Amino acid sequence: MAETQLIIGGEWTPAVRRGQYEVRNPARPDEVVGQAANGDEEDVERAVQAAHTAFPGWAALSFQQRAEILTKAARHLTADDEELQTRIRLFTREHGKILKESTLEMTRLGDRFLSSASFAERLATDAQLPGPPFDTLITHQPRGVAALIIPWNWPLSILGGKLPQALMAGNTVVIKPASQSPLAPSLTIRRIAEIFPPGVINLVTGSSSRIGDPLISHPLVRKINFTGGTETGRHIMRVASKTLKHLTLELGGNDAAIVLQDAQLDPPALQRMVMGAFLTTGQVCMALKRLYVHRSRFDELLEGVTAVASQSVVGDGLDPQVTMGPLNNEAQLQVVREMAEQARQKGARVHEVGSVPDQDLFEKGYFHRPTIITGAGHDSKVVSEEQFGPLMPILSFNDEEEAIRMANDTEFGLCSSVWTSDRDRALRVARQLEAGYTYLNAHGPMLQDNRAPFGGFKQSGLGRNLGYEGILDFLEPHSISSVPGWLL
Ligand code: NAD
Repeated sequence: MAETQLIIGGEWTPAVRRGQYEVRNPARPDEVVGQAANGDEEDVERAVQAAHTAFPGWAALSFQQRAEILTKAARHLTADDEELQTRIRLFTREHGKILKESTLEMTRLGDRFLSSASFAERLATDAQLPGPPFDTLITHQPRGVAALIIPWNWPLSILGGKLPQALMAGNTVVIKPASQSPLAPSLTIRRIAEIFPPGVINLVTGSSSRIGDPLISHPLVRKINFTGGTETGRHIMRVASKTLKHLTLELGGNDAAIVLQDAQLDPPALQRMVMGAFLTTGQVCMALKRLYVHRSRFDELLEGVTAVASQSVVGDGLDPQVTMGPLNNEAQLQVVREMAEQARQKGARVHEVGSVPDQDLFEKGYFHRPTIITGAGHDSKVVSEEQFGPLMPILSFNDEEEAIRMANDTEFGLCSSVWTSDRDRALRVARQLEAGYTYLNAHGPMLQDNRAPFGGFKQSGLGRNLGYEGILDFLEPHSISSVPGWLL
């Protein structure tokens, strides 16, 4: 059974007062997968102090020196194959996601370290503004201790959008994973931390009600980079306002996909569409959550998507034939069931598809089959709210303008997609969508470019992760001027 501790000042160390808590397998809720350290405010204090102490030394390194250490960490993450395979299996058992996805997350985390390291030269180059009127250099300095707060759904990829960027910028960090899926993330962070000077990477796990507020209100924390629900984001903004911390918030989404009249709906395209909606059982911030199709292609699309989704095999993610695991937790299962039931009661057609090889397991675990919903109104809950589960509402539109209007008719603005065989049309529509990322003829993390900034419009967030912009988010611009002819 896995046992994880905290990481404070380079030590793998138990929580001071509260021991550990059990983590269970969502496919088999009777099975305890492991024990995670149950930290509290005293542990947060130790972690923040350790990060604060390590900050001057880490900040003093050059971007190039830090890039070399990040590159070494990326290699170290996957160097011991047996250890890696154990971590991947543990991840599937505590989270529910299938092995292929657990593997993908581990790989992606390493790739994101390498991607951040690749910006070293650009970061080291100060912009020069020669006079008149003044000679000015625009330099950048790290912010200090950064709190990195990650959700349970894609914890390692999401960590990859914050941790390498924070470190590359020269900050030291305290990481707080979600309490639902802390084991494989803690072991992975431990492996990374081994490569860095003590105190640069600290980790606190436990209940958010005990460690959340002490972390986000701590006066020595200068930066919070949070990914999670919009409500929690609002809370963090309120609490952090007392000490005016710099915030990056990656919040919920309700991504629209627009399938235009001329879209190619061949089997690979349908496969990408279904994967965009049902990857990780739909628990993806950037999942396809509303599918709008031109009315002339509605029947064809519905038939195609239903055929592909029907091939899903729902069960334990450790089983190689399974393509979709359980929801991560019972509360999320309830949310999804209630949304589907409400749509049904309001007259929508709710069509559950896919096969279930083990009915007994299905009934005991937190499973829900892929579900295609037609006949739901644009303003119904299953369309207007984030489902965060395997529900795919399909609606039709009459023309491009109507599709864009419906896609933008939401307070969310994370991602979106446009499906068409006309490149110019794709770009024209994409440029009008209020979303931080638009995929063309695909949807979701499989097409996400690590080099590009990622984040939301409107209430889907503030600031950006990933790419060069994601590193800049962790830096304070610092302008230095003199009279002309003296500095430059
Ligand atoms: P959540 O908001 O419940 O929790 C996210 C993290 O915040 C967890 O680590 C949690 O323990 C922590 N937290 C809760 N209260 C806190 C507090 N007071 N102080 C500090 N930390 C606190 O979200 P979740 O249920 O884990 O994740 C699902 C949500 O996350 C969905 O809405 C999804 O769309 C969103 N999400 C967004 C992105 C993105 O990039 N925009 C990515 C993944 C998930």
